[in-house]
Amino acid sequence: MFKNRLLGPWRRSGHWLLSLLILLLPWAKIDSHSLLRIDIPKLSLHLFGATLRIEELYLLLLFTLACVFFFLLATLVMGRVWCGWACPQTSLSDLTEWVASRLKLKNRQHRLYGSAWRKLVLHFFILLLALLVGSNLLWYFIEPQRYFTQLFTGQLHPVALGTLLTVTAAVYLDLALLRRLFCRDFCPYGRFQSALVDSGSLILQRPLSEAPRCIDCGACVRACPMGIDIRHGEQIECINCGRCLDACRQVMAKRQQPGLINYSFGTSEQGLRSLINPRTRLLTGGLCVILLLLAFSIQTRPQASLKIALSHQVASRRLANGNLASFFNAWINNRTTDSAQYLLRAQQQNNRQRLELKGPTRTIVLSGGQNRKIDFVLLTPFTENENRVTFTLYSQNGQPLAEAEALITPIQSR
Ligand code: SF4
Ligand code: SF4
Repeated sequence: MFKNRLLGPWRRSGHWLLSLLILLLPWAKIDSHSLLRIDIPKLSLHLFGATLRIEELYLLLLFTLACVFFFLLATLVMGRVWCGWACPQTSLSDLTEWVASRLKLKNRQHRLYGSAWRKLVLHFFILLLALLVGSNLLWYFIEPQRYFTQLFTGQLHPVALGTLLTVTAAVYLDLALLRRLFCRDFCPYGRFQSALVDSGSLILQRPLSEAPRCIDCGACVRACPMGIDIRHGEQIECINCGRCLDACRQVMAKRQQPGLINYSFGTSEQGLRSLINPRTRLLTGGLCVILLLLAFSIQTRPQASLKIALSHQVASRRLANGNLASFFNAWINNRTTDSAQYLLRAQQQNNRQRLELKGPTRTIVLSGGQNRKIDFVLLTPFTENENRVTFTLYSQNGQPLAEAEALITPIQSR
């Protein structure tokens, strides 16, 4: 019995699932925060339940670095499978060409032919699709509900509106004029991939040993969205989509034979052994180091942060009892996803004497991810010398979580 399973249904399911994930991710929430959103006004990133402030974006950098290494490794091992099986550009091109075929438009040499009204319907569909893509991008910066309210009331920020119009125009032109030509001639990943794949990467080929069985029906060429003739060997434009494989399997199934085109690691059919080479070892090692670093950074990430600064609005003053009152601002950020209660304390660094604080420093309640500014007064014994003070933020059960320092100078004491 020969293998005759078709890959098309798997590929289409993959495309749909990924497209739905990209569309729906900004709508999903954990603890009233989006699953994935960059909050520009608050300079923070909501990432799967965690809220990272801008000073913690080194975690995002590590995460991005891990993604880059993973992508490089995946390309080295799986060739251009991303392009054929997951890339949104391919999904959008597939969808556009599917709608074109439903409208009975002919697709020849990447151009669509047919009556004017059918083309008009297609262009209207592409415009809506491009608007959806532009909006979807903005949902990663503006909550979708807020985005629609602002859009329909004309309150969308000019930068957001400009981004929406630019992305919509770019996607419209891409789908109306380029589609596969973008993958072939413009996509930077396609160029860069040619430098990355090696003799062991996953490719689609019709092995030379199968050439005698080929009946030259041309079904594989007709099925190829990139206009490639796989019979001529490996080609850089190939996006590993597997359509030629399905076409050949269908043709050969009628002759009770297995298809001639198959996925293989490298042209010499060494199998998975061809993947064990210095490049894959290097990238796998690099990826493991970055993942370990990321796990360690997340594990040791402080639960809260504290920043302290002398108030610019109220000058320090000497009180009747001889103490000095200094006015401070504190910025406290709850880096966990749960609400928490904090207590702020201060002590002199030279003699570790506890200092009195006036203001809302005893019961500071912050919800998960919240950032709050509080104003308070520090009372210190008046001295002619510099006085260095340490502020400590404690959790409800007395665990020190974050520290900050301030210098009370003699000039400020007067
Ligand atoms: S040659 Fe086959 S796998 Fe490559 S792009 Fe064409 S149909 Fe897809
Ligand atoms: S579909 Fe198969 S049999 Fe037909 S030309 Fe292509 S490789 Fe040969």
